Amino acid sequence: MENCIFCKIIAGEIPSAKVYEDEDMLVFRDINPQAKVHCLCVPKSHFATLAEMNAEQAEILKKCFVKIPGLAKSLGLENGYRLIVNQGKDAGQTVFHLHIHILGGQDMGEKLI
Ligand code: AMP
Repeated sequence: MENCIFCKIIAGEIPSAKVYEDEDMLVFRDINPQAKVHCLCVPKSHFATLAEMNAEQAEILKKCFVKIPGLAKSLGLENGYRLIVNQGKDAGQTVFHLHIHILGGQDMGEKLI
């Protein structure tokens, strides 16, 4: 997708601190971390929000969620972590390529963020 920063990262046109990659997803560290550990799990297939996701992309998203627990363990998040998937402007979504924030490495508190 033209002008999508995450598509450019997936294509290797923009560098990233890669944590994991396979044919379906790329996981890299967030450039502006909001917790001691903050990674983004990004399906390689471009879609902006869940509302635009097709059946094939839903299967890929499922693989992301299946993969995340093992990744979290390798990132030292055995005590827990928070997943956030912002949907649209009011949620604060700034990159319109669906991604899952993986946040942890500290007590995240009981509030929303
Ligand atoms: P969201 O606000 O949910 O759309 O999240 C977008 C996230 O992408 C933010 O947390 C940004 O810090 C992060 N981000 C933007 N550009 C980059 C980049 N080049 N490398 C890593 N993370 C990025």
